[in-house]
Amino acid sequence: MYVAYDSKDEVFNALDSEVEKNKEYHCPICGGRVIFKKGVKIQSHFAHAKNCSCEFETYKKESSEHLEAKKDLYEHFRKKYRNVEVEHIFKTGENDIQIADVFIKDNSIAFEYQRSVIPFDLIKARTRGYMKAGLKLIWLIDTNKFIKELKSYDGISYIRYAPFVDNFLNYYQGKVFFYGWDNINKKFEFYQIWAHNLKKRNAVCIKTSLSIDEFDVPLDLKLLDKDLTSKLYPEDVENYVYEQIKYDKTVKNKVLSMFYNQHIELNNIPEIIGVNMLEQVLIRTPLVYWQGLMYRFYKEGKSYSELIRIMSNIIEFKDSIYINNVQQGEIFLKVFKAYYALLVENEK
Ligand SMILES: [Zn+2]
Repeated sequence: MYVAYDSKDEVFNALDSEVEKNKEYHCPICGGRVIFKKGVKIQSHFAHAKNCSCEFETYKKESSEHLEAKKDLYEHFRKKYRNVEVEHIFKTGENDIQIADVFIKDNSIAFEYQRSVIPFDLIKARTRGYMKAGLKLIWLIDTNKFIKELKSYDGISYIRYAPFVDNFLNYYQGKVFFYGWDNINKKFEFYQIWAHNLKKRNAVCIKTSLSIDEFDVPLDLKLLDKDLTSKLYPEDVENYVYEQIKYDKTVKNKVLSMFYNQHIELNNIPEIIGVNMLEQVLIRTPLVYWQGLMYRFYKEGKSYSELIRIMSNIIEFKDSIYINNVQQGEIFLKVFKAYYALLVENEK
């Protein structure tokens, strides 16, 4: 951490002021004593004198990358705005405080750079804390850590991303995207994604990078109207099912037992099961699973409203701080209607 309280409870910022050797400094969160570590390879900073369970140690994970990103963003925005703070301390309740990595006071925008995996509930609680304090929060997830580019050509990349990224997916006007910080190249990165193959967290994407000098708020994100969702072929679905058998062929395997219970032979899967959709990147329930069920229920003659009720219990969404229940309901209906139309078409 860069900010600590001195013995007079005044906020002290180690990035801007000289640390006095004989003075005592305390952690703003737990009040424990912190010591100044003069940096050689990494930026000088404060650290707890003793091991403790302070949130700074458990959730903020003060890696050298975290310290560096905070410093870079702070120094960058300080050049652009009048009032900028590093590790801005603010109250979110009677006894609760939160610390924003970087805070631009001029427009009440705060940044959280996140490179350690923290539980979704904590992300939600922190986001709410900012809302309560009237601050706009921008989460910057570490793209070097959480995104792996598998291949790339013609400006289109194929990526695999960590489960943590799911928590930060945005949905706006039928487009899915997330953004973050590339700490190695010091770039703001913006990914628009589409569903790719049946593997979990594989996506087609278009990545836009902004150098730190070009990085400003509000974020100006250009979204592409095209749908780049990959088409799935019968062999993709067969391979997926084959993978399932290798992985777990017991009744616990939802996908396999669905095929079994629906009397669908694995070597003769109808082509209508496995129609890829852009919004699948937001859905936790495997594509082949929910489409297999919906196909069968439709065949059995369930009514449109019965199908909606059944499928709304089957299709589950991933947790994201940017997508609320109302929006999930809208996405569900969009996906449901699109697939229903295909089932009707398929009957003709
Ligand atoms: Zn502490």
